[in-house]
Amino acid sequence: MNSLLDVAHLKEDFPIFSKVMRGDNRLIYLDSGATSQKPLSVLNAERDFYTQHNSAVHRGSHLLAEEASEAFEGAREKVAAFIGAEVDEVVFTKGATESLNLIAYSIGNSAPSSRLAIKPGDRIVVSEMEHHANLIPWQQLAQRTGAEIAWFPVTPDGRLDLTELDSIINERTKIVAITHQSNVLGTINPLEQLISRTHEVGALFVLDACQSVPHFAVDVKELQIDFLAFSGHKAVGPTGVGIFWGRAALLAEMEPFLTGGSMIESVTMADATWAPAPRKFEAGVPNMAQAVGLGAALDYLSAIGMDAIESHESAISDYLIPQLLALPGLTLIGPASSESRGAVFSFAVDGIHPHDLGQVLDQSGIAVRTGHHCAWPLMRKLGVVGTTRASFYLYNDLADADALIEGIVSAQKYFKVL
Ligand code: PLP
Repeated sequence: MNSLLDVAHLKEDFPIFSKVMRGDNRLIYLDSGATSQKPLSVLNAERDFYTQHNSAVHRGSHLLAEEASEAFEGAREKVAAFIGAEVDEVVFTKGATESLNLIAYSIGNSAPSSRLAIKPGDRIVVSEMEHHANLIPWQQLAQRTGAEIAWFPVTPDGRLDLTELDSIINERTKIVAITHQSNVLGTINPLEQLISRTHEVGALFVLDACQSVPHFAVDVKELQIDFLAFSGHKAVGPTGVGIFWGRAALLAEMEPFLTGGSMIESVTMADATWAPAPRKFEAGVPNMAQAVGLGAALDYLSAIGMDAIESHESAISDYLIPQLLALPGLTLIGPASSESRGAVFSFAVDGIHPHDLGQVLDQSGIAVRTGHHCAWPLMRKLGVVGTTRASFYLYNDLADADALIEGIVSAQKYFKVL
């Protein structure tokens, strides 16, 4: 049985919810799929880093450098515990986009003799529901290496069509890169089948966990994936920090993506060798305060409990989906039940352009996302230029769902399309 969190209490942790919005309305934030709001503990952790410990990590021999390094490495330990990883498998990046590019470029930099090298005729498999961040880096890698891109289509009800699983992930496949949860449809993909087929053909599985790690428990070892990427800012953490996780044995074999300071073992005028992972992948002074803030964010989520957050979001889905389906003139884009789906709802309203709908909802303090959601191929498949998307998180409640429904009906009246 799904149950709701005590949102009124929890919202007190998020200063932004005391902001008065247009028309003296309260903030009804339904855009967490794009970025989440931040609790005070995260803001304080960043501030505390700057006011008490600020120094470049891993460099100086002074007290501040020591404290900064401890805080930074402490954050790495928290991330590792949160996703069931080994500490040295966790790499800080500036976000999921960088993490996914890191994987693609690193693989592209492999020596021809490496088992990671991509050759002409090899295959990289994605899906039609990928965010551009988990599509374009693979297209680019394919173009640089002569590999081909293949993809799983999306069914009319917004699921991955796996009927051709064995021929799409074929013996030539080297990489399968799939989103855990679609940022447009809310669909949670059936990873077990995909991962077992990926490993059957000896390929590597990359999980875009941007929309899953913030919303439900994800354990990299349990899933038996090879690589994972997510962004801190969607998980109540700061902007400017993300995670690339890879299995230790793979990280040891991989080439760096960015080179420079802090990632070397030794350097001569002609050449350099690399430090072991994770430092091999962390060139330059990292986003230290942001990493520490991410540690605080994961502490915050853990204290509430990822299962409790998942249950809360499912309860909202159970409540909202039937109401969306019953609204005349509204088409829900994505699965029509809360089974294997998150609380992300894309929809089209007859006679109202998504941007116009977004602006009318904004008049009531309701923040939704409108447009293509960085998923053009999916928009083309769905035959729409864009959608309106309402994405819920731990600080949303049923009153927010009611406000959304009322807002849509008001917009329909305003545009005289009812
Ligand atoms: N993948 C998915 C599924 C996303 O939803 C997003 C962001 O919306 C990304 C990747 C890219 O994340 P970022 O822009 O934080 O790098």
